[in-house]
Amino acid sequence: LVTRMRGFGTTIFAEMSALALAHDAINLGQGFPDSPGPQAVLDAAIAAIAAGRNQYPPGRGIPQLREAIAAHEQYWYGLDYDPETEVLVTAGATEALAASILALVEPGDEVLAFEPFYDAYAADVALAQGALVPVRLDAPSFALDEARLKDAVTERSRVLILNSPHNPTGHVFSRAELEAIARVAKEHDLLVITDEVYEHLAFDGREHIPFATLPGMRERTVTISSAGKTFSTTGWKVGWACAQRELIDAVTTTKQFLTYVNAGPFQEGAAVGLTLPAHEFAAIRDGLQAQRDLLVPALRDAGFEVSPVEGGYFAVADAAPLGVTDAAAFCRELPERVGVAAVPMSAFYADASGVASLVRFAFCKRPEVLVAAANRLRNAT
Ligand code: PMP
Ligand code: GLN
Repeated sequence: LVTRMRGFGTTIFAEMSALALAHDAINLGQGFPDSPGPQAVLDAAIAAIAAGRNQYPPGRGIPQLREAIAAHEQYWYGLDYDPETEVLVTAGATEALAASILALVEPGDEVLAFEPFYDAYAADVALAQGALVPVRLDAPSFALDEARLKDAVTERSRVLILNSPHNPTGHVFSRAELEAIARVAKEHDLLVITDEVYEHLAFDGREHIPFATLPGMRERTVTISSAGKTFSTTGWKVGWACAQRELIDAVTTTKQFLTYVNAGPFQEGAAVGLTLPAHEFAAIRDGLQAQRDLLVPALRDAGFEVSPVEGGYFAVADAAPLGVTDAAAFCRELPERVGVAAVPMSAFYADASGVASLVRFAFCKRPEVLVAAANRLRNAT
């Protein structure tokens, strides 16, 4: 069928997870943790179901979660959002992204996104009949190239999509980089959709700086996050968006007709998670950082060149030293040949020229699983 989704087939995550299953491979492709999140978070959802809170919750999300989201923004970042009018609960960050892009992008509008980008951005922009304008970040640092961003802006630019900590590169945008982006947003009157699902996973003492905290940016920014990554509950699909009222109203209007409302008991779990003491968030981050420190040296041992990983779930490895020129083909055969699944970075590029040997590995797995994967990779390369 000819549709506006032409060119978007099965997502790379579904394809590689299916291959991992078929060959009983260790799945370092799709980013989901393999150990449970905080017990209090899980217990709250179980208790909600047992207590019979199983009917439609309010469209904007249960008050308890909206209040927890607002309190979390205030506690961690000093940002004030009114839980009644400036917070919207969604089906994961995925729905928050879709509803925001559909609400804010008119047909023909240009949407700037740093490339490589999470695959949903391009799909959502296509649904909105906008035009995605990729702005390349170069390996191995994947730092902002300000001149390139300025060059990409036109009079049709409407929205800029930001993601920090960044999937797939692991880059955490610095204050200087964010300030440069803010200058461009202000000068060209752009709306900014910022995807901060890895907000609690900045490593080595780095600070996650929400874009909305930059001077003048709160009014033009929709901040999106999710309980999935922070609390290891990716299957719950509880996400949210925070923004000034006019923007949230537009996103809410769209969201109503995507899912109407989202699973109530999981919202109760997420609300408990967001109000956990700070040391629990630090422990989650430290666990992920230790997992990074297992996988990255193992990939280097196996012959890959690995980019620095500053945050998130993923490491980018260049397989060129192993003689690989086509990472997509390499990743398709890896589950059967080596017993490990990964994702080719080409999935995150509009045009993958120059990056065809890059592979993304997820390290959000138990240490023993990472050690087993490392052994398989070392023995095979
Ligand atoms: N944005 C980014 C950058 C992601 O990595 C993901 C996937 N985890 C999402 C959005 C989607 O999040 P959710 O599962 O909450 O829909
Ligand atoms: N965000 C996760 C990843 O990047 C999962 C994506 C998905 O399954 N759509 O791997």
